[in-house]
Amino acid sequence: MAKIIDGKKISAAVRDGVKAEVEILKQQGINTCLAVIIVGDDPASKIYVANKERACEYTGIESRKYALPADTKMEDLLALIDELNNDKTVNGILCQLPLPKGLDEKRVIEAISPQKDVDAFCHENVGKIMTGEYDFLPCTPAGIMEMLAYEGIDPAGKNCVVIGRSNIVGKPMGMLLLHKNGTVTICHSRTRDLKEVTKRAEILVSAVGRANFVTADMVGEGAVVIDVGMNRDEQGKLCGDVAYDEVEKIASAITPVPGGVGPMTIAVLMKNTLTAAKRQNNLN
Ligand code: NAP
Repeated sequence: MAKIIDGKKISAAVRDGVKAEVEILKQQGINTCLAVIIVGDDPASKIYVANKERACEYTGIESRKYALPADTKMEDLLALIDELNNDKTVNGILCQLPLPKGLDEKRVIEAISPQKDVDAFCHENVGKIMTGEYDFLPCTPAGIMEMLAYEGIDPAGKNCVVIGRSNIVGKPMGMLLLHKNGTVTICHSRTRDLKEVTKRAEILVSAVGRANFVTADMVGEGAVVIDVGMNRDEQGKLCGDVAYDEVEKIASAITPVPGGVGPMTIAVLMKNTLTAAKRQNNLN
């Protein structure tokens, strides 16, 4: 039976670390603030934003929410971002994706100042990930690296396979594993013989977005399995990409859904906001 990698416990440790540092900044008269923009009524986005607000409250980070209607015009959204970029009391800015149809996500991402881009989505921050000289790392892959480190799982020399090549998860995940000396393969929908590739993985990360996508026959004995997927099963229950019950019999360690990668993503967002506040106040 696999060891369950407890994202709730590990993320609590990260959040407690942030909380302590936010308090130290407060004692120096520095307030840490995250501005969150949500456009429209997407129910999943509302839940994510509420979770982020809760994490801010816990860590002592001020959270400013800007809820805009679905028919918001691009120019108004860009004007708000511009205002927040120039607001010295705001350290981090995130715009919850996806945006309603008609709004240009790429323009919005690039409009956020790289120094306040706590999601690390803009070109400048993405480029820095390649060279390893970054201020912020994208929250989900960085959260996974924190989990591996916490569990003493060193990617060095290991076969690391990532399924999925999105800009926010798959590609940066591969890069972070590479920085830690993993031998990395990134798979996608055009990968031939996927099962043959995934079976060789000593660390397997799935970021596909399909329930029961990773089955036991795709996993090698003793692999570490990280499930990024957030899907709904036939009963409408939250589940990951991995067929958990069968895979946990083969894996040496596995992340559950819920309670795995999800809480880590939010904890790293708090960490990035703290980093932004420190940088903007010329502290390390
Ligand atoms: P995405 O942009 O839709 O990317 C999915 C990737 O899966 C694509 O690269 C796609 O390949 C690949 N794929 C699809 N079918 C495949 C197949 N049959 N074989 C191999 N690869 C296949 O999704 P994302 O934004 O990376 O998110 C992935 C999942 O993670 C979603 O469930 C999302 O909700 C979840 N997520 C969770 C968190 C968290 O905090 N837990 C954060 C972010 C995302 P192509 O590129 O060839 O199309």
